[in-house]
Amino acid sequence: MQSFKWINATSVDEVKEIFAQQGDKARIFAGGSDLMTMLKERLDMPELIVNIGNIKALKYIREEEDGVRIGAMTVLADIAEHPVLGRNFTALAQAAKAVGSPQIRNMGSIGGNLCQRPRCWYFRGPFMCIRKGGDTCYAVNGENQYYHAILEGEDCFMVHPSDTAVALIALDADIIIAGVKKDRVVKAENFFIGPGEDIEKENILEPDEFITEIRIPAIEINTRSTFLKTRIRGAWNFALASVAEVPS
Ligand SMILES: Cc1cc2nc3c(=O)[nH]c(=O)nc-3n(C[C@H](O)[C@H](O)[C@H](O)COP(=O)(O)OP(=O)(O)OC[C@H]3O[C@@H](n4cnc5c(N)ncnc54)[C@H](O)[C@@H]3O)c2cc1C
Repeated sequence: MQSFKWINATSVDEVKEIFAQQGDKARIFAGGSDLMTMLKERLDMPELIVNIGNIKALKYIREEEDGVRIGAMTVLADIAEHPVLGRNFTALAQAAKAVGSPQIRNMGSIGGNLCQRPRCWYFRGPFMCIRKGGDTCYAVNGENQYYHAILEGEDCFMVHPSDTAVALIALDADIIIAGVKKDRVVKAENFFIGPGEDIEKENILEPDEFITEIRIPAIEINTRSTFLKTRIRGAWNFALASVAEVPS
């Protein structure tokens, strides 16, 4: 692993200040369950790691009149077990519960789940694929039975691995983004980008931006939303396919 500088941030404003000075060299560390692998495999080599795990102001699930607000550092286990989410935003609670294993759900934050990197093994392995600056997507003629797109692959056939993303898009959620120049709000469905738009990125975040909150608009009480996921084994695995449905 390449050495890096580590900062324990204590507030959102402090993160913004750090990003204002060294945004392109810094990376957010939330639970670290994905980032640590990226660092160890030298797939990501930032000079500075900004730990947001101690920012208490980013850990909450709040019910408000217009819906529910979830801080970016809220762990998936808390989302899976939250009574209001389980009752009124069932698809999200089910999606959080479908992630990996209890250990991953206790470590992994919702912000990190939305910003995790692709699981394509050519991207994760020692291959100079098109996503890493090469000129070939090895999945096209190689091992492509899991974690790859069957539609609209274009140059790279990676799919986004996040279970909660599927539920949040169906629930019409907003993603609240803090930035050095300005804060902004985007619909979850506009947050993610495919390889056709930018081969190196999976979302619209600029280097000096990060997620602070997820907002889900209120829906009628007892609306029975659902999340379903199919995978190669019963636990500890990413989706082969998943679907979320929210009746309107
Ligand atoms: C064995 C295993 C099985 C898994 N199975 C599943 C699964 O079935 N379904 C699923 O959806 N996921 C699965 N995951 C992925 C897991 O859910 C994510 O690793 C986890 O949610 C990431 O959260 P984190 O807080 O640890 O993020 P980190 O690892 O700290 O960060 C991940 C990435 O997001 C960025 N980031 C983190 N927070 C923010 C933020 N607030 N704003 C901007 N960028 C941010 C980081 O810079 C980094 O690039 C699995 C992971 C493992 C290791």
